[in-house]
Amino acid sequence: MALFTLLQSLCSRVAQRSTVLALDRVGREAENALAGEPNREADMQRTATCHCGALKVIASGEPERVYLCHCQACQRRTGTAFHFGTSWPKSQVRIEGAHKIYERGADSGSKIRFYFCPNCGSNLYWESDRSPATCGVAGGAFTGSDLPSPESSIFEDDMHDWLGLPSVTEHHRQGRPPVTG
Ligand SMILES: [Zn+2]
Ligand SMILES: [Zn+2]
Repeated sequence: MALFTLLQSLCSRVAQRSTVLALDRVGREAENALAGEPNREADMQRTATCHCGALKVIASGEPERVYLCHCQACQRRTGTAFHFGTSWPKSQVRIEGAHKIYERGADSGSKIRFYFCPNCGSNLYWESDRSPATCGVAGGAFTGSDLPSPESSIFEDDMHDWLGLPSVTEHHRQGRPPVTG
């Protein structure tokens, strides 16, 4: 009987976790269910917000990747010379507020979904079918400037000539090659 109860509790935890991993499109009520779980990554928290403040991403721990992208789609999407991106495991991010979605095909053939605030239009986070466990968050939307420096720079073929990149150690003329191993 005790074993059955344990199994029930395990299954319910797994169910809660997949809800969060699926980056729920209508809201994030389920994440509160995780609040009671021990989370070693929770020590460091950063909050990214849209222009009006209604949509938020709360990220725990450290990002997997901090990078710059010079592709033309990112230039148009952000309205700036390049895109400053951070990537996080979905298990480390929590979303608050209403959003809308713009989905498009990527060069790789997979789909990317961009989540933006219906009120102010800021594009705050995104996900790709190519990396379903990862959530991208706009680096410039985080409060403060304590994010790690970007380590890589992609699609440099489209980089503006006047732009210098002091901190980057990894340069790619096109996209970043798929991670192996
Ligand atoms: Zn907004
Ligand atoms: Zn790009």
